[in-house]
Amino acid sequence: MKRYITLIALFSLIVSVWCAVETLLDCDRYLYKYGYLRGTFDPDSGQEAPLHERTYALKYFQHFSNIPITGEFDRATMIKMNQKRCACEDVMTKETMMNTSLSFAPQQFNLGPKWSKTDLTWRLNGYSRKLRDNEVIRSELTRAFRVWSDVTPLTFREVTDRNVKVDIDMSFHLGEHGDGRFNAFDYRGGVLAHAFFPANGDTHFDDDENWQIQNDEGTEFFTVAAHEIGHALGLAHSTEEKALMAPYYAGYDPNFRLHYDDIRGIQTLYGGTTRDPFTQRPVPLTTMRPVRTPRPTLRPTPRPTPRQTQTPRPTPRQTPRPPRTERPVVTPSTREECNIKVRAAVTDFDGTLLLFTNGTTIYQVDLNRRYSPIKSDQSTKFSNPKRNPDAVYRLLNMGMTFIMKGQMIWQFDRMGNQMKRIFVQGGGYSLPERPRAVIAPTDNEIWIIMSHIVCRMTPRGEVIRGSHAYFSRTYRGVPYPVDAAVALKNDETIYFFKDQRFYEYSTRRRGVIRNGDIGREFFSCS
Ligand SMILES: [Zn+2]
Ligand SMILES: [Zn+2]
Repeated sequence: MKRYITLIALFSLIVSVWCAVETLLDCDRYLYKYGYLRGTFDPDSGQEAPLHERTYALKYFQHFSNIPITGEFDRATMIKMNQKRCACEDVMTKETMMNTSLSFAPQQFNLGPKWSKTDLTWRLNGYSRKLRDNEVIRSELTRAFRVWSDVTPLTFREVTDRNVKVDIDMSFHLGEHGDGRFNAFDYRGGVLAHAFFPANGDTHFDDDENWQIQNDEGTEFFTVAAHEIGHALGLAHSTEEKALMAPYYAGYDPNFRLHYDDIRGIQTLYGGTTRDPFTQRPVPLTTMRPVRTPRPTLRPTPRPTPRQTQTPRPTPRQTPRPPRTERPVVTPSTREECNIKVRAAVTDFDGTLLLFTNGTTIYQVDLNRRYSPIKSDQSTKFSNPKRNPDAVYRLLNMGMTFIMKGQMIWQFDRMGNQMKRIFVQGGGYSLPERPRAVIAPTDNEIWIIMSHIVCRMTPRGEVIRGSHAYFSRTYRGVPYPVDAAVALKNDETIYFFKDQRFYEYSTRRRGVIRNGDIGREFFSCS
């Protein structure tokens, strides 16, 4: 008996060691598995990734995971990487996109990774070693499906007849189970489950987990099931840490409700219900709301001085290349920077702020002020620079940056290679004028800002019907038309740029909380 206990103890020790992310190579493999690390790293070679590739991937991971962006495999990073999580990748890789209907083929671009019907069927296949009662599992799954049918036109029907093919096939598995070595389950802890995008829908749970029903003593089944069903319906991981679709297991919540970000995501794919019309934050055109915050007093805007010089047109690059990590020479602030006109602004994958100005000039600004702004050219970031862009935005979990001019949107992968070009559209709902800015507070919410109107757009460039709202009622106290805007990833702060001034807007307080001179704020001008 004693020997038996020792064996069990030894076994659980092996299990806990098996899952841990401890070495730099573990770290590289983790970053690779979840889509952050691409480039020359080969997870099978046993060789660590080149330092510059790992640093970039780590910053991307830290930015996505809401931990300090250091570019180093530090303690906070190690703790995050050892949390229980979903096995699906955070950043969609090219292979995933190829395997779903979110294909790179232009003619298919507007389909998206979604089901083409709203009445879906599901079945639980086989058994769980831990949760022996299939009746209980099925009733929890029914509850998990209801989470999504409550906010969409989708309906889910369980089919028990094994001869009928179902849309979403659910089962428990151990270790390597036929989805490839990199998708193998990993004993207790680590990854908990994974699911495939439409039109596959297969959903697999790791049967080595200590599954629990409606209690927090192990891993709560309903919470994980509802998350995985989100994937089976076409949702990727959310950058919003409180969302159900965040990658990490957050524990059992007896008062579980979908997060606003989850609802935005699923309704972007399938629309809302008649009970719960399309959820949106800004005030629609037809309704009035009382002012909650007093209008801040704004200082007069200094007149911009006309530009004398023309930036020479750079030759567009044709070949793909690795992400640029070498820093251009830091130049001291000059007159030019103190009178900068920001045409577009975006946060980069590593969390720095990119300001696009006239021509193809960009400034890279560290919001934590660890280094001075770096002046460079779009060509250091993008294979095909776009002169005088109207707007720039990026989606963290697609790993894509979008540059917009008029109705045209160019899509770049995270290495800066131009992927494709799309047009804003949506059944006659095209834009009445050039966009002034585009902001994406989370990947599920993209807003186009024009002179007086704002409207929502899907990641596929379709303007969402009924999403139009007045700028003045949406962003109270911000003078308009604005030149540029960027939403910081915390979903609470938006920077607006107009002439030589910036306005820091709080979405929580619905008002401008700070404003000032761009040169003084970002370029240490006197
Ligand atoms: Zn997931
Ligand atoms: Zn699987």
